[in-house]
Amino acid sequence: MKIVVASGKGGTGKSMVAGNLAFALSSGTPVTLVDCDVEEPDLHLFFPEGPCANTPVHIKVPHINPDVCTLCGECGDFCAFGALLVGKDRVLFFPEQCHSCGGCMIACPAGAIEEADMPVGTITVSHPEKNLTLVTGTLNEGAIQSVAVIRAAKMMAGNTGWIIYDASPGTSCPVVETLEGTEFCILVTESTPFGLHDLALALDVTMQMGIPSGVVINRSDGRDEKAQQFCREHKIPVLATIPFDRRIAEVQGSGTLIARIDPSWKDRFSALAKDCLALWEGS
Ligand code: SF4
Ligand code: SF4
Repeated sequence: MKIVVASGKGGTGKSMVAGNLAFALSSGTPVTLVDCDVEEPDLHLFFPEGPCANTPVHIKVPHINPDVCTLCGECGDFCAFGALLVGKDRVLFFPEQCHSCGGCMIACPAGAIEEADMPVGTITVSHPEKNLTLVTGTLNEGAIQSVAVIRAAKMMAGNTGWIIYDASPGTSCPVVETLEGTEFCILVTESTPFGLHDLALALDVTMQMGIPSGVVINRSDGRDEKAQQFCREHKIPVLATIPFDRRIAEVQGSGTLIARIDPSWKDRFSALAKDCLALWEGS
């Protein structure tokens, strides 16, 4: 089963939920945990370091042959992203603007543009626990092609068994790419006005993509009526409530997982996975 852990805003505890969920599940079945928060991957911090394999991610960008280019300007006119500027004596290419669409190659009447590989990130694969594979996508500094790195991380993770994807916060293209082709989404929120506002945005994305979802309320102070009411009104289940607990914060701050040190939390996260499975099967 493919589950995304997402949230409308950063700092809600999304990675904590994804890490604990994967760890709890891995005691009984193989699990792949995929860090799709490629601008700031942090799931590796919860697991022991060990041997890992790195694979670079490249995108295709144009390479212009100045001996063939006639400076006609067609490529600059075609590129909707402003990645090509045709000057008096050369064509300037701004790789950070390029979306790798390949259109300029088709548009060039002189056949002066060839494809070249440009590195944008790295996929790291490790096996930090028995039964657990961690796939981490990392976007290169200065690069903007998060979607390409997320796509590569998802491909590396494959399609079998339990796969837990930790999405980047928000509701933009990287989140949509992470959700694509998955079966269930856990939306992590807090019972604050900002939390609820961003939950509504994230829920809108999952609904438009036709992906069933449920909510985990994190850092609850016991006064979650507004969040509960929101979930009732939108007919989405509250899957779990995690209290505002100093011990959980300390455990997390020390780089480990509450499910690793407390069997009752391991059981709670295993139950969360089973609830997701039941809801997906019933959807
Ligand atoms: S590949 Fe697409 S985005 Fe990149 S420079 Fe060419 S037209 Fe622009
Ligand atoms: S379209 Fe081709 S020939 Fe025309 S400016 Fe661009 S690279 Fe040069």
